[in-house]
Amino acid sequence: MPTPEISVVVPVYNEEANLEPLFARLSKVLDQLGRPWEILFTNDGSRDRSLELLQGFHRQRPKQVRVIDFNGNYGQHTAIIAAFERARGEIIVTLDADLQNPPEEIPKLLAKIDAGCDAVGGVRAQREDSFARKYLSRLINLVRERTTDIRMTDQGCMLRAYRRRVVDAIVRSGERATFIPALAYKFASKNGEVEVAHAARAAGESKYSYYKLIRLNFDLITGFTLVPLQVFTLFAMACAGGSFLLVLVLAFGRLFLGPKWAADGVFTLFAILFFLVSVCMIGIGLIGEYVGRAYQCVQQRPRYVVREVLENVD
Ligand code: UDP
Ligand code: MG
Repeated sequence: MPTPEISVVVPVYNEEANLEPLFARLSKVLDQLGRPWEILFTNDGSRDRSLELLQGFHRQRPKQVRVIDFNGNYGQHTAIIAAFERARGEIIVTLDADLQNPPEEIPKLLAKIDAGCDAVGGVRAQREDSFARKYLSRLINLVRERTTDIRMTDQGCMLRAYRRRVVDAIVRSGERATFIPALAYKFASKNGEVEVAHAARAAGESKYSYYKLIRLNFDLITGFTLVPLQVFTLFAMACAGGSFLLVLVLAFGRLFLGPKWAADGVFTLFAILFFLVSVCMIGIGLIGEYVGRAYQCVQQRPRYVVREVLENVD
């Protein structure tokens, strides 16, 4: 069995109902390519039968299927990183396990890589997700577009392909709270996009609660820009200027128009105060997001712990 040219990376978290059809469709597509391939599944702490199924795939095709079994749940992006560290292919493809990314679209990505791109992102032509999810994505897209220099049409689509050097750079960067498509965009010398199909989740539920989704998007924004902190400082300066003016106006009123004049404005002042206090709290939270991430880096704990790796590589 020659060294694989294409490595397909699939993070798996409680996907028992999807794995069999996924493996059947994916291996069929890869066999038809006529290029040596491997699939790396990372079992991200599944509590259902996912691991058992993955072990079965490894037994079926021991040279081509590799399984990394985590001791717990570390998140989709960490699961992908663990597979990136082990992938041997010159081209690395990422794909979700829930069949939302049709494996049949992989040749389109490969064609774009062969044409000279070193990172290719899928763009979901017709996205099959809830209205709220699509709306949140659009909002984050806008924030990302305004605050970072990352330009992509569909950051949430995980059907993507990368050249080895991009993946090596991602692995070397050693980040913990990371957002792989954005990192790849930074490290690539030529980015490309192709339109791909998208399906509704075949079975099971999304593994992202709204809380997890918001955390992930904070990883994206804090990982790639300090603009939120800077905007905050600018706003604080504007507030300080405004407050100073207000003091002047109040002092003027108190001295020249009498005590009653100033007392009437007390509720307005409360409103302004509450507003500023809440803005301060947002600021503290925002600083916390950056400090917390820096703290995790300083701790230097391993990003994940592997229970077992099933593979048969020479
Ligand atoms: N996933 C994972 N660990 C997690 C959450 C998700 O490995 O903590 C995997 C999941 O099994 C799937 C992919 O990441 O293969 C995308 O997850 P999901 O489909 O739930 O996300 P959505 O499509 O709702 O954004
Ligand atoms: Mg999905």
